Amino acid sequence: MSKNDSDINRDRRDVLKVGAASASLACVSNLLINEKAQGTNHNTYDVVIIGAGMAGLSAAIELLAHGYRVKILEASHRLGGRIYSETLGETRIELGAEEHYLGKNNPIYSAVIKKYGKDVYTKAYEGEQLLSIDNGKFCWEFSSECLSDPDVSNFWKYNSYYGNKAQHKDYSISLADDILKQYGVDKDHRAYHLYENGFAGAIFGDSLKRIGAASLAEQDSKWTLSEDIRVLAPSKLGYSDVLEKIWWNEISDHVLLNTVVEHIDSSGNSVAVHDKGGNRHICHKVIITASIGVLQSELIQFTPALPRATIDAYNNIGMGRGMKVALRFTAPFWEERMSYLITEGLSSSCWVPTNYKTGSKDHILMCYPMGNNGQTLTDIAHKKEDDLEGAEEIIRTMLSELTTLFGEEVNTQYIDSVVQDWTTHPYVLGSYSYPTPSTYANGNSFRSQLAQPINNQIFFAGEATNNKNPSCVPGALHEGSRAANQIHNILKGVSDPPQVA
Ligand SMILES: Cc1cc2nc3c(=O)[nH]c(=O)nc-3n(C[C@H](O)[C@H](O)[C@H](O)COP(=O)(O)OP(=O)(O)OC[C@H]3O[C@@H](n4cnc5c(N)ncnc54)[C@H](O)[C@@H]3O)c2cc1C
Repeated sequence: MSKNDSDINRDRRDVLKVGAASASLACVSNLLINEKAQGTNHNTYDVVIIGAGMAGLSAAIELLAHGYRVKILEASHRLGGRIYSETLGETRIELGAEEHYLGKNNPIYSAVIKKYGKDVYTKAYEGEQLLSIDNGKFCWEFSSECLSDPDVSNFWKYNSYYGNKAQHKDYSISLADDILKQYGVDKDHRAYHLYENGFAGAIFGDSLKRIGAASLAEQDSKWTLSEDIRVLAPSKLGYSDVLEKIWWNEISDHVLLNTVVEHIDSSGNSVAVHDKGGNRHICHKVIITASIGVLQSELIQFTPALPRATIDAYNNIGMGRGMKVALRFTAPFWEERMSYLITEGLSSSCWVPTNYKTGSKDHILMCYPMGNNGQTLTDIAHKKEDDLEGAEEIIRTMLSELTTLFGEEVNTQYIDSVVQDWTTHPYVLGSYSYPTPSTYANGNSFRSQLAQPINNQIFFAGEATNNKNPSCVPGALHEGSRAANQIHNILKGVSDPPQVA
């Protein structure tokens, strides 16, 4: 199987972007030298923000509105972080966040409606779920085989059981232990994959064995966003596109792309943020929005070292692993009623974004291999010469699995695909945060602990620090806002960047 032109072009574009990245770093260095030569201290700021994802951008918008001098340093070549829309065929698809929570506590929802009108949103997953069970037997959600299968009905029931705090008091046990205790489902059970692929992976971005049952129930009880979700309907409109129009355009002048922060030195009166290109960005306060994956990997060094409590906090929050794989076909090989598919293999769970993308003539299946499945595919890809061959191997594996389920049409109707592996993304290193057994143990919250400012100079913010609505875009946005407000309360609206000799 060979990748089609659009994929190869995409990879070429990425290569070009790396070239462009080096060029723009050189420009930044010159700019800083010129600014210093003129004595204007243009590389000094009230606040430096690390990361141009949703948390970083929302923090910047608020701080700029208060009149502060702000710079966002972003390691990658684009804004948005884990919001990332791409085009496959002629349809905008989401390689990161896709679901929007209805109005309550979600400022994105109201801003999008205001700009585009109500019809911009529609419901996803309309139709019937298809479960593969007993080595490829189909079980349709509303058919008698599914309805009379006690293992399947237990799986549906688990969706309302897992959040029951009274039933989940033992912080030492995982979701895998929980389903074993409750339904006798162990990893060799015929229904285990339903929980692993269709629940733990599909919702929490990792595997049953790593997610804490009591921690998850605790986390779930704090949730304040709507349970009702919507997706963007127009086929030419992605999540990145709407955010670019609503917010990002006005802020892009304040972002330095391709700027990887390596070291934060807060040992002096001000904070020095050092990037990989050798530049120093001096500020009073720094907001760090890098993911739990980045923090756990210690890609950013701190002088003085971070307090033990902060290190404990990020080490006691889980970081999911996984990828999104979008596969385009000339025609659907699945039945029209299929809204969502739970497989028994590495493809995990899949849905059909082109069902809800109005005006799309494409037929795209979006698969969501997370946790152990995602990791296995990442490892399979790693054994190959380069990223392109690795992605091809992932596609080959998934097409072969889908062929076993749906027949040869899968291969004959395949056109092209996009693989976005978040585990190997160098500046995310995972999908999104999840509660480990210890995250909320003994009345603590390591999410709240991570959100504690250090000496009123270093502020952590991002989806993982949100104690009520973690692991999602509105949660990240609220955290950016929270850190911005904490800083505003200290700086009191006076912009006075540090003077550097
Ligand atoms: C596959 C997937 C599906 C998802 N689905 C949904 C969904 O349907 N709905 C939903 O609401 N949420 C979803 N999410 C979660 C959502 O995308 C995230 O919670 C949110 O985007 C995180 O925003 P953030 O600002 O905290 O972090 P990020 O978006 O990760 O932003 C952090 C930024 O920091 C940068 N950075 C990291 N290290 C450095 C460094 N050393 N120097 C400079 N910059 C650095 C990164 O490049 C990144 O741009 C999904 C996430 C994934 C991965």
